[in-house]
Amino acid sequence: MNTLSGGFQSIQKCVALLRSGDVLGIPTETVYGLAANAFDEKAVAKIFAVKDRPTFDPLIVHIPTGWGSLRKLDELGITDSSLLSSEAKAITEKFMKAFWPGPFTMVLPRGSRIPDLVTSGLSTVGVRMPRHTITQDLLRTLQLPLAAPSANRFGRISPTTSSAVVSELGGRVQYVLEGGPCEVGLESTIVHVAPDATLTLLRPGAISREELAQASAREVALPEKTTSGKSSAELAPGMLASHYAPAKSLTLGSIEELRLMLADQPEIRWGALLLDPAAEARIAEVVRSRLTVERLSEEGDWSESARRLFSALRRLDDDGAVDRIFAEDPRTTTLPERTGGMASAILDRLTRAAAPRH
Ligand code: AMP
Ligand code: MG
Repeated sequence: MNTLSGGFQSIQKCVALLRSGDVLGIPTETVYGLAANAFDEKAVAKIFAVKDRPTFDPLIVHIPTGWGSLRKLDELGITDSSLLSSEAKAITEKFMKAFWPGPFTMVLPRGSRIPDLVTSGLSTVGVRMPRHTITQDLLRTLQLPLAAPSANRFGRISPTTSSAVVSELGGRVQYVLEGGPCEVGLESTIVHVAPDATLTLLRPGAISREELAQASAREVALPEKTTSGKSSAELAPGMLASHYAPAKSLTLGSIEELRLMLADQPEIRWGALLLDPAAEARIAEVVRSRLTVERLSEEGDWSESARRLFSALRRLDDDGAVDRIFAEDPRTTTLPERTGGMASAILDRLTRAAAPRH
């Protein structure tokens, strides 16, 4: 796989590749994506083949700045807002103004030019306007929507650097566009906007449920508590229990639990992802020397921990001196805001990384 710098020449090359129906690794502020022209079903099929992704898992469609209105998206055949109530339309437009460009995806009624494969045959489509400047340069030059899931093999750790894309998909994709390390580091927040303006949080991310409730002056339901009569599996078919999985086994728990495991099983070499800067001091010195520690943030800052999470997980997974991985459960830290916002997005990813594999 070749890495293309983000300059003018590479953008031109990427545009040519995408117009001819090829796939390409692209940076975004959330994680690196594997992109193809969302209007071209054959090109989109290559994404599924490269990732070994099952076709029941729909893709998010990425759009350039300048397409941030329902009128424009309808006109292009990406959405069909005639199916939304006027209240749902008004909320959608408010969300666009408040959170685009940014790490925020809306699931809206699907337009006529979006192929079945992109949406797994659903009548809705996930749309996002990323804010990464290089990818925005690409989208604006291309003037096509890009279907792009994370650039990892299905179920594995999302890549937050171009080198992680190379290690995930190296032999399978020709090019990745360099955009530096991802600024957010976790996938976008996803919200389903129902025709009657019922809002459901399908995936937590950097844009918090509280921010969404404030911008819409509405409750935002959690998937299991959806009020629209549909189960969360129907609303977000790709949200599997096991995801973001390292090859090694991962245990989620408190520092006390880690201490017990270290005492009980001295032969196991643990690698630990720690969130709370005070955590390490609570592990006895003799035991600590047997641990490989990844401190996610020196200040206990949730955004910083999110940004570093996937690359730290990848390092522990690749480290020959680590047998098993431990991740500190955000809820068991002493840090402020350990349940809402970014902490809940981190917990979501760690829970899926720790879940039994399919
Ligand atoms: P990613 O793995 O980051 O590409 O995100 C794709 C996820 O977005 C899927 O697994 C779904 O959960 C969600 N998604 C995308 N499109 C839709 C849609 N039309 N309806 C519901 N969820 C969607
Ligand atoms: Mg993914």
